[in-house]
Amino acid sequence: MDAPEAIVIGGGIGGLAAALALHRQGIPVTVHERAASLEPVGAGLALAPNALRALDRLGVGERLRALASPHPAIGLRHPSGRWLARTDTATFEAYFGDTIAGVARADVIAALVDALPGGTVRTDSAAALVSAGSATEPAVVRTPDGERSAALVVAADGIRSATRGLLFPQHPGPRYSGFTTWRTIVTPAGRPEAVGEIWGRGRLAGIVPLADGRVYVYGAALAPAGERAADGDEKAELLRRYGSWCAPVPQLLALAEPERVLRHDVWDLADPLPAHHHGRVALLGDAAHAMAPFQGQGACQAIEDAVVLAAPLAPHPDPVATLPAYTAARLARTTAIATGSRRVGDLIALHTPAATFLRTTALTLAGLLPARLLLGRSAATYDWQPPALGAAA
Ligand SMILES: Cc1cc2nc3c(=O)[nH]c(=O)nc-3n(C[C@H](O)[C@H](O)[C@H](O)COP(=O)(O)OP(=O)(O)OC[C@H]3O[C@@H](n4cnc5c(N)ncnc54)[C@H](O)[C@@H]3O)c2cc1C
Repeated sequence: MDAPEAIVIGGGIGGLAAALALHRQGIPVTVHERAASLEPVGAGLALAPNALRALDRLGVGERLRALASPHPAIGLRHPSGRWLARTDTATFEAYFGDTIAGVARADVIAALVDALPGGTVRTDSAAALVSAGSATEPAVVRTPDGERSAALVVAADGIRSATRGLLFPQHPGPRYSGFTTWRTIVTPAGRPEAVGEIWGRGRLAGIVPLADGRVYVYGAALAPAGERAADGDEKAELLRRYGSWCAPVPQLLALAEPERVLRHDVWDLADPLPAHHHGRVALLGDAAHAMAPFQGQGACQAIEDAVVLAAPLAPHPDPVATLPAYTAARLARTTAIATGSRRVGDLIALHTPAATFLRTTALTLAGLLPARLLLGRSAATYDWQPPALGAAA
């Protein structure tokens, strides 16, 4: 093997986390990102305890925790404003030993890039897998600089991953979830007191405070794939849909800059892949397990992937020997979390008066349960512990 380096295709959160994990294991790595810059979508992200622990392994956990805006409680409300379930942050943090950090995506990208050696990330650099390699042959990737061989290729090329299509041509690919989403960041005069989600008929809104007084506001609603606001004004569309909801939803939406309201349809990989690797290629993040965002775990799982992928590579540098364990560690876990996200989506999708009445009643009763029972439902996801990164870290 004349090429011990790793090549990462895709410079999203998953690709950058993988590059940093590999770098911390002493493995030379280059990231190829086809976009001209790493400008992430102007939205926020919830980093759950499982992801924060993995980010600690990457050396950037504290930087991101410090950017989260403290808030006393988080919960779920009815559009009238009535709380259905609520947990105070101190109880959450005592239970899980960590917080959920609401951060701007740009801050996550910046933290990962800043921790990488200069020149690791090449933008305007679309890459394509030519050969997945084998125990005796390196993998080969076509880049704008020509064909490059690598001991390991990390395909972090997102939900429309061309690499996944090449390696698993039988897989049906992404499926429309039935939901469209809006995301924006606003700067209100004061802190919102009510943090968390509000569930209505076939739609939700969410409020996440960020650093420096900014607030990430999002919505998700049942809609046909590809539908957009008739007048092209997604801010006006949000106000049409959420204008009568409880404070501070309409007030925050009114502050949005129309050109900064992002609208994306939600697709996911309903069918899990047979494996998250083939030859010398590891699929990672949305390329491997794109999931609906209703548990806020897509990026968190990509960050977990990165640490698990890199962990065994320092003492046993041949990825061909370690990639089967990567699939074994990641496939069942990410499939279970994706299934859980889809089930939450099924609950949000309820939209008839009878079904939403039953849902509200059930959630109200669940909200009366002791906090430890409510929190225990997330334990399998949030209690995850990352493996240690090895010698070079
Ligand atoms: C509305 C919404 C809210 C969400 N909220 C949360 C949340 O709160 N918490 C959470 O954990 N997750 C959340 N997610 C999920 C999260 O955004 C994704 O799971 C995560 O961003 C996936 O990262 P990735 O790096 O795998 O893929 P991507 O971010 O899609 O990155 C893939 C990159 O690969 C590049 N690329 C593609 N093809 C090539 C090529 N041939 N050559 C070079 N580069 C290429 C692309 O340009 C892109 O930059 C949310 C998702 C949505 C839609």
